[in-house]
Amino acid sequence: MGGGQLGRMFVQAAQAMGYFTAVLDPDVISPAGLVSHYHIQTAYLDEQGLAQLIQRCAAITTEFENVPAPALLTLGAARRVAPGAEAVAIAQDRIKEKAHFVRCGVPCAPYAVIDGAAQIAAVRDDLLPGILKTARLGYDGKGQQRVNNHAELAAAWDALKGVPCVLEKMLPLKAECSVIVARGADGVCVNLPLQRNLHRDGILAVTEAFDGNLPLPLVAQAIAATRAIAEQLQYVGVLCVEFFVLQDDSLVVNEMAPRPHNSGHYSLDACDLSQFDLQVRTLAGLPLVQPRQHSPAIMLNLLGDLWIDGATPPWDQVLALPGAHLHLYGKLKASKGRKMGHLTLTGASVAQVRATALQAAGLLGIEPF
Ligand code: ATP
Ligand code: MG
Repeated sequence: MGGGQLGRMFVQAAQAMGYFTAVLDPDVISPAGLVSHYHIQTAYLDEQGLAQLIQRCAAITTEFENVPAPALLTLGAARRVAPGAEAVAIAQDRIKEKAHFVRCGVPCAPYAVIDGAAQIAAVRDDLLPGILKTARLGYDGKGQQRVNNHAELAAAWDALKGVPCVLEKMLPLKAECSVIVARGADGVCVNLPLQRNLHRDGILAVTEAFDGNLPLPLVAQAIAATRAIAEQLQYVGVLCVEFFVLQDDSLVVNEMAPRPHNSGHYSLDACDLSQFDLQVRTLAGLPLVQPRQHSPAIMLNLLGDLWIDGATPPWDQVLALPGAHLHLYGKLKASKGRKMGHLTLTGASVAQVRATALQAAGLLGIEPF
């Protein structure tokens, strides 16, 4: 379900193991639809489209979390669907998601649910300055507004059309990181190494994956929290949990994605099992083995900004760097902030991979990090 780049890389991993694939996506041209054996071009809730998918597929997964939960319920009545509708519904809604984190005993940013003027008036001053986020349908920083006081909060809520939101306290971030786990129907759970992430303008820009990217106690804490979050949901599939590291080195959970994640793309080139291989295995009911990272890696996101004014990035120079792996998603139109592809640099050492990643960033006009 879904034809974006995450679906494309899933389809490619499934095909490498000999599977046939079908993608349901309303777009005529989509990154995953372009490489799949079958493309069912209907709306996500279209009964005929869902019936075709059931006919074609023994097992069904999603590549973006905004697939309507009722569609997953229909599919789940006839086929193995992983992750299940219930887990996806929780991840689709920041209010339910935060309640789940609280249930798991994992601290999140102080917050308040906002769905009326009364709640705005009741917001305590210690939640400000904060970020107002729509409960549903946000991504890449869309559907969010920073607010400093009650008046700005009221105006921001109006601007977000009065939909249910959460107001989160603005926290002093030292770093951001994420952990990806895969859990099978038999309860076996494995994880990729922790990723350290740099966001710019609310969009992931750089992921660093190597030993020492964050202090070991934090790494252990984040992995344990992610496993607990998956376990409590009886989750089946690939799950990514994003965290903040605060100035005092405490760990706070941000949000989760019920699918592979942009921060895990390095695993395609730097690990013996990628996040997409893990997704295939959870879906097919195959054994899950703890992935091993064989090279330090840095991933740079390639946003549409690099193609602005019809320019083509200098691939000949970028690919002359050792350990450069270019992934483009087959998107035919570039626009500002649109994820067009990613570049992973692998190397024999952290120092080497940092050096080539900075060179690549320089060639591409990506701000150094
Ligand atoms: P995506 O789904 O693409 O990860 P999103 O639109 O769901 O993004 P968030 O992950 O909620 O957005 O926030 C995007 C970024 O904004 C975070 O990675 C972080 O850099 C910053 N941010 C969000 N919430 C807070 C907060 N409470 N305090 C400080 N910074 C924050
Ligand atoms: Mg996020």
